[in-house]
Amino acid sequence: MHNPVEELLKAEGTKDDSVLVFPSDIAAALWLEEALDITGKTTLPAGKCIAWDRFKEKAMQKTVAGKSPVSGVLRKLYALDLAARNRKAAEPLLSSLIPKQHAQDGDVFAAWISRLLPQLGLWQSRAQKAAEFRIAHGPAPLANADAEDTDLAFLVSDYGRFLDDHSLFEPAWQRPPLADEGIRYFILFPEAIEDFDEYAAILASAPCITQVPVPPFAPDENTIFDVFSNARDELRSCALRIEHLVSQGVPCERIAISVPEIATIGPYLLRELSLRGIPAEYRAGTKLGEHPAGRLFGLISACVSGNFAFSAVKALLLNRLIPWKHREAEYLVDFGIRNHCVTSWNENGTAVDIWEEAFKAPAKGEQGDPRIRDWYRKFRKALSAMANARSFAAARTAYILFRQDFLDPSRLDPADDAVVARCVEELNALAALEDEYRAVMPPSPWAFFVEKLGETTYVPQRIARGVSVFPYRVAAGTPYPWHFVLDASMEHASVVYRQLPFLGEDKRERLRAWDIDASGSFFSLYRCSPRNTGEGAVFSVSERGFSGYCTPHSYFMHQAGQEKASESGESRKDAESGEGSGADDSSEAGMPRFPLDDPYRAERLWLSRAEGSSFPNRLYPAQKDGFRAWTAFGPDTEPSYLETPYSGSAPLLAEAIEAWQYTNGLPRVTATALGAFALCNAKWFLASVLRIQKETSDAELPNERNLGLLYHSALSETYARIRERDGRFVAANAAEYKAWAAGIAENATADSAEFRGPLAAPLLSALSKRVADGIAGIIDADAQLLDGWIPELLEKKVSFEHEGMSFYGVIDRISRRPSDNELVLIDYKSGRVPAKKDCIPGEDGSLGDFQIPMYLFLAEHDPKSPYAGARIAGAWFGNLKAAKYDMIVNDPETVPVEGRSTSVPRAGFAHAEEACIDAAKAFAEAVRSLDFTRPEALAWSECANCDFRKICRYLYAVRP
Ligand code: SF4
Repeated sequence: MHNPVEELLKAEGTKDDSVLVFPSDIAAALWLEEALDITGKTTLPAGKCIAWDRFKEKAMQKTVAGKSPVSGVLRKLYALDLAARNRKAAEPLLSSLIPKQHAQDGDVFAAWISRLLPQLGLWQSRAQKAAEFRIAHGPAPLANADAEDTDLAFLVSDYGRFLDDHSLFEPAWQRPPLADEGIRYFILFPEAIEDFDEYAAILASAPCITQVPVPPFAPDENTIFDVFSNARDELRSCALRIEHLVSQGVPCERIAISVPEIATIGPYLLRELSLRGIPAEYRAGTKLGEHPAGRLFGLISACVSGNFAFSAVKALLLNRLIPWKHREAEYLVDFGIRNHCVTSWNENGTAVDIWEEAFKAPAKGEQGDPRIRDWYRKFRKALSAMANARSFAAARTAYILFRQDFLDPSRLDPADDAVVARCVEELNALAALEDEYRAVMPPSPWAFFVEKLGETTYVPQRIARGVSVFPYRVAAGTPYPWHFVLDASMEHASVVYRQLPFLGEDKRERLRAWDIDASGSFFSLYRCSPRNTGEGAVFSVSERGFSGYCTPHSYFMHQAGQEKASESGESRKDAESGEGSGADDSSEAGMPRFPLDDPYRAERLWLSRAEGSSFPNRLYPAQKDGFRAWTAFGPDTEPSYLETPYSGSAPLLAEAIEAWQYTNGLPRVTATALGAFALCNAKWFLASVLRIQKETSDAELPNERNLGLLYHSALSETYARIRERDGRFVAANAAEYKAWAAGIAENATADSAEFRGPLAAPLLSALSKRVADGIAGIIDADAQLLDGWIPELLEKKVSFEHEGMSFYGVIDRISRRPSDNELVLIDYKSGRVPAKKDCIPGEDGSLGDFQIPMYLFLAEHDPKSPYAGARIAGAWFGNLKAAKYDMIVNDPETVPVEGRSTSVPRAGFAHAEEACIDAAKAFAEAVRSLDFTRPEALAWSECANCDFRKICRYLYAVRP
């Protein structure tokens, strides 16, 4: 196929006075390599093929002798300085670009202003033309110039002055003539250069410039454009084709893939290639500041700006890529968790460092370790020196000292070390600007540096060779003989360049600034550039991508129609069913079409015993490894506890269970154990027997569990006092009871050993109000329903043996009516209150919550209980949040309720108690036989949400 670059290189490649200008660095570098082959030369000057950005600096500089091109960093420094001058001016300099009401925090507009500076040349010339047109044909120009126009005009002159003062020039602002230095430039594919329009005027009039346009795009019957039903099929087809090419002897380095939305698709594509043993190079690059190793600098900034809040300190100290020299880094995080060092605060205008406060008065039982304290102080000082440095040079010095004192660079992975080194290079470059541009240096150099890292793309040096994976557009026009363009959809492969995008639509129209659709130019470049093969790139699209449904790009509608029309035909059908037996070499040049032999798909069909399937005729190394690993687990290997009880096969485990889960030689049964066991035996085993707990890795404020303990102790004390003084609950004294409760809550929070650290005291005093309010709600509910009842039993531990089991529980309260000795059992709930349906057996006879039946059973059957043999008429949950009782069991004739009652009468609750005892027996039997198998009927969703899923690994187990 016609390749304009190849022809140009044949004609101009050996001439000393010609330079080829490509839209991108990658295209320039690759064509320079190809040029040797095309021209037959052994060497060519590196400047023979250059990228557009380099050309702008080089050629334009000639027009402005003695000046240097302005860089992105300098534009940003200028914009920040402008925002600062605007802030300090008595009357703001700008009113539209930075609205007056935001003048004081105008720094946030600096990045945006710096990006529009290059386009001001185009804006000025268009505005001038529009004015001239209006002079000739309409009303006086600028009569309706608004605040935005005024601001832009100010920006042009102010920025121009800055450039002049520093002997700089803005390449995009240059106007004819372009100085002719005797070099002929061939600008290749200007349609694919985003800012070409800004330079079009100066280039059009220069005799030394020749523009080589993109050939018109007209896909024909030779254009390969495949439509897939989904993205996975598209990726698989691409990988299979590449595998086929490689098997035909095509080197991987001669193959490229271009992908729009590479951040989403890239990982799936790389996995597909790696599963088939195809080496790949990901050439998308990442922002330095987003690279795991490059995040170090931003994390330092976050620590200081967040005043060493726990979350920021933890993110920095536990970052696995940062090689801390001292173990104190981890110890400090542990200390912060134990002492709840959530965040620092301001007190009477003074900043209080929570870590220092915690060191002064460590929590109860905490040994204040002076080594952690001293390390923290040094650490804080080092970080502050970097983040608060007044100059880039000072920040660099502070970083070098920090690195010496706190990091062990020898433990850094070389790739990560290269990233950190590249970040430091950026800091060096900023420091080098300092003398020359002192007047516009930012007030916070470290923050500027971190922001710069967030904008700078880093592409690691190529260490391994393989199929190159590029973001869409970057490798357009490169000479890869084999190029695959994925996801050629309207949604993702459209390229539209906007002129003067910072203006509103009406102004853009007035200034004749249009949207330019460059989509076709890119398709054309991909189509025409591959060398030798004569086929052009392979385009494909999937109707359902990773981010939703997609439409084939309009440029390929004809091909897409044909492809869709053939969907029911052989090739498509075979491709989707995977029934192909091998590559179809219908392409003469070797590019296979559908179907292709896929060992993975063949294996899957064979395993599922699909009709006509057979064992794959070849296997990938990954499949062979998997098969070997699978066969290694023969029938003689240990069975999983998830499927088979341990029974007598684990004497040590039996001993441990007996020590921890038995009382007087009998399995201990509690409502909590039954609840966990009823869901999944394995879960109970992991949590209660192996005592695996979810680790707390955050410095939390008091959580719901802690709060529940507080509620319980304050409620018990309040009702004990009521019983002591009044002998019974007297509704008329409710206000007084509430006052007692408030005082008790305050003391209970202050005494609580659960909350530690400097933040706990002020927070707990606030929480005590919440506790007091919760108790007040229960007092009101008692005043309504239990006036005159005696709060007889409070926070009572109950345990007794029954039918070979040891039952245990803590009953919150039992109130008795003295007139007829009727009883009500109450269980307080500060969090979720179980629904009534969970407390009665479901259709399968099982219970969801065991507390009410268990507590009733304990109270009525414990021989030591004062209510042994009695009948408790009511069992209620004390709902502290809703300030009411949720009656699960209640006899209306004992405690009448207003309205329709949803509670179960005591006599009707017997089957729940029976279900509870049955569950207790099953539990005891399972514990005795060490049966911790996963219930067969357990829903997959329970496992997906289970805290133990990564330990139990049921979800991840491979099953045939
Ligand atoms: S993941 Fe599933 S089987 Fe494993 S412990 Fe949790 S609930 Fe039980």
